[in-house]
Amino acid sequence: MEPALPDSEKNLIAGIRGMVRRGPGVMTGIGDDCAVLRAPRGAELLVTTDFSLEGVHFRREWHPPEAVGHRCLARGLSDIAAMGGEPRAAFLSLALPGKLPQPWVDRFMQGLLALAGKFHTPLAGGDTAQSPNGILADILVVGSVPQGKAILRSGARPGDGIFVSGELGGSAATLRRMMNAPKRKLRPEDFPRHFFPEPRLRVGRWLREKEVATAMIDTSDGLSTDLSHICEESGVGAELWEEAIPRGWVGRRQVDVLEALHGGEDYELLFTAPSGRRVPASIAGVPVTQIGIVQRVKKMVLQGVARKREFKPQGWEHFRG
Ligand SMILES: [Mg+2]
Repeated sequence: MEPALPDSEKNLIAGIRGMVRRGPGVMTGIGDDCAVLRAPRGAELLVTTDFSLEGVHFRREWHPPEAVGHRCLARGLSDIAAMGGEPRAAFLSLALPGKLPQPWVDRFMQGLLALAGKFHTPLAGGDTAQSPNGILADILVVGSVPQGKAILRSGARPGDGIFVSGELGGSAATLRRMMNAPKRKLRPEDFPRHFFPEPRLRVGRWLREKEVATAMIDTSDGLSTDLSHICEESGVGAELWEEAIPRGWVGRRQVDVLEALHGGEDYELLFTAPSGRRVPASIAGVPVTQIGIVQRVKKMVLQGVARKREFKPQGWEHFRG
């Protein structure tokens, strides 16, 4: 038999239930043993899960609860975007320390549900428990894509162009600034790329509908690491053009090329497209830049103004190192 739920947990579930709306793809949401989801005819389902752990992915003294909730769901939605899919429903498992103030939980849920509403992704279930140490949130997102149309990491071919949406490095540079000056509070609204990243669902869907992308991934771990995943899965290498990489901003400072190359958690889309295929400079209002080319030789090189050098995956490792 399971122990009786403490009041805080009952309140949490009741609170979540009160905040959740049903969506067209969710027949039965919170309140039964399972959610019942309706898949569109001829669709395949996409499923992704992501942990958000206190001390690893966020710190309570740096990240406001709304940002923790937003980033928690953004990680899952970004994975759906990277397949060219549509989100159908999200599931949240939360383990919270007994002494966590209720307003923290309310604000976390507000941040998460605001993003869920924006992308029509109903929260259709989850679980709660007491955590002996720190906040643990696990998000599961179910999405769908027409049969056989998911954009995989394995489709890149030599000669394909390499493209990225938005800008890179801004999120990691913001985090580094907080690590260098832990006492200085940042206003989250001034650093949206870190605190409130926007999953590129519309860009991903456009690329799938127009059948432009041969391979795709979202930049969660950093360009060098995420590109290495496409290279490995596709059995190819890559040449990047240093000058072309769109460098993000941290406040009024533009990040340097190494930050853009290795910094993670930007949640942009990195994709390849055949050389003859025209790729617009902007998709769904988001700038898209060609940053290099897929090559047969299985290594990754950075072509600068004067020299060419090989680089390795060196992505974001959260708060370690
Ligand atoms: Mg991903």
